[in-house]
Amino acid sequence: PVPPASYRDMPPETVLDTVFGYQTFRDNQKMVIDTLLAGRDAFALMPTGSGKSLCFQIPSLIRPGVGVVVSPLIALMQDQVTDLRQVGVRAHFLNSSLPAAEAARVEAIAAGGQCDLLYVAPERLLTDRFQRLLSNMKLALFAIDEAHCVSQWGHDFRPEYLQIASVTQRFPGVPRIALTATADPATRRDIVEKLHLAGAVRVVASFDRPNIFYRIRIKQNDKRQLLTLLRERHGGHAGIVYLRTRKRVDAIARWLREKGIAALPYHAGLDAEVRRRHQQRFLMEDGLVMVATIAFGMGIDKPDIRFVAHLDLPASMEAYYQETGRAGRDGQPAEAWLFYSLADVVAMRTLQNLSSGNEAFKSVLQRKLGAFLGFCESPECRRRGLLGYFGESYTPPCNCCDNCTEPVDTWDGTIAAQKALSCVYRTGQRFGAVYLIDVLTGRASERMERLGHHRIKTFGAGQDLEPKQWHSVFRQLLAAGYLDADMAARSGFRLNESSWNILRGEQPVRLKKDPEPVKATAGKKSA
Ligand code: ADP
Ligand code: ZN
Repeated sequence: PVPPASYRDMPPETVLDTVFGYQTFRDNQKMVIDTLLAGRDAFALMPTGSGKSLCFQIPSLIRPGVGVVVSPLIALMQDQVTDLRQVGVRAHFLNSSLPAAEAARVEAIAAGGQCDLLYVAPERLLTDRFQRLLSNMKLALFAIDEAHCVSQWGHDFRPEYLQIASVTQRFPGVPRIALTATADPATRRDIVEKLHLAGAVRVVASFDRPNIFYRIRIKQNDKRQLLTLLRERHGGHAGIVYLRTRKRVDAIARWLREKGIAALPYHAGLDAEVRRRHQQRFLMEDGLVMVATIAFGMGIDKPDIRFVAHLDLPASMEAYYQETGRAGRDGQPAEAWLFYSLADVVAMRTLQNLSSGNEAFKSVLQRKLGAFLGFCESPECRRRGLLGYFGESYTPPCNCCDNCTEPVDTWDGTIAAQKALSCVYRTGQRFGAVYLIDVLTGRASERMERLGHHRIKTFGAGQDLEPKQWHSVFRQLLAAGYLDADMAARSGFRLNESSWNILRGEQPVRLKKDPEPVKATAGKKSA
């Protein structure tokens, strides 16, 4: 390793090469580094895996003093410090996992100027003790990693982050850098405001992941669809299957193993030791399938994940982007699969109505889910939709998504939508899809006759479409916000303002023909 004192005079390129062993900077890294070396603040929006760490590590080495890195994730902090020490950098961390004596030793080292990078948890940064330490240290810079934690619109709000600006404010000459891979415009604005970064140089990298193929399919039998996928397209590949509940994780992992697939479960309900072991095996062994809730994945740096499959809906575009983004870090072709159904849309909408939090917070969740459902149902290039959401323009076709390579047919669904909505209205806005479709297709039951719904005008008015197609109509109406659902209140589908625009004939509706699920090995009809 290079002796620490000599970093000071080196150009960034030389530090990159002699300390980290890389020949060239990636897009944007140099720009961020130059900004900090010039003593200015920076705001770096760069996707995961794009090399954000070097952006503050290298200036921390070159500038005199300690680079203080605020990071919310203890595990990541420890990994980074270990990696840095391996290349001879004097890095330390302070968090709740350290015994008091050890923490005191690290503080003494930092105060004595024997430290290049000091990682600290946000709650530690705010303590009086740490404030005193800061005043006694020469500071190279402040790096605020995972800066989206400052925003309530983000997915990982940490109240301590709100006070970071009041700490850094006391050191006006020390440049600051905020970094995040979360990129929705509302969160960005919030970060700038809450961290007082209006004057910072913004460096925005492209969020495109050109080697990921995006596919979204309708869920029919998710276990079967997954098995087909694993056997026919991803045999022997490492991948992640995301599910919403622990129960489903356990059940599907077990089922896959019975079918001879090397699958492991991962969720927060498992023993810490079991989780650690499963994660370790996934990282070290080839071709394991991790069946997990979203508890799995933060900070997982496995380059050769060949697929990520969602069997339940993610809550937002951000979540989808982050989770699918774990595939193909090595730049080799990788696939992102999502399967969803009408029932999932209803369940998600209901879940968000139930979630705690004030009305404003709920409406943010609803909007985020709405944007995501719109993306799922859209016939346009997925890459364009995804990047567009993050404010980045993209000219299709990408030829690397389902909609580009197998364009979907659309049809004029105005009349069908009117029939469906009218059926919701005439049955009293109390029923879900199954009952409504029976009414539309004229399949009377004893219950229906008791309620008199076999005599309403829409009874049998939808015999031109099959029940499966009606399912698709209801799903798309719900996803597009032309219909509301709150199954928890047992109130069934309900009309809203937009529904009436359709019923009054003021709003034409174009619907998609659903593509085939995954090409099945043995279809019923051909068997
Ligand atoms: P992020 O924090 O943006 O998710 P990291 O800083 O963890 O990304 O970097 C991801 C990987 O890319 C690491 O293995 C890192 O060593 C590597 N890397 C970063 N910059 C370069 C570079 N200029 N050349 C080659 N590899 C790099
Ligand atoms: Zn495309």
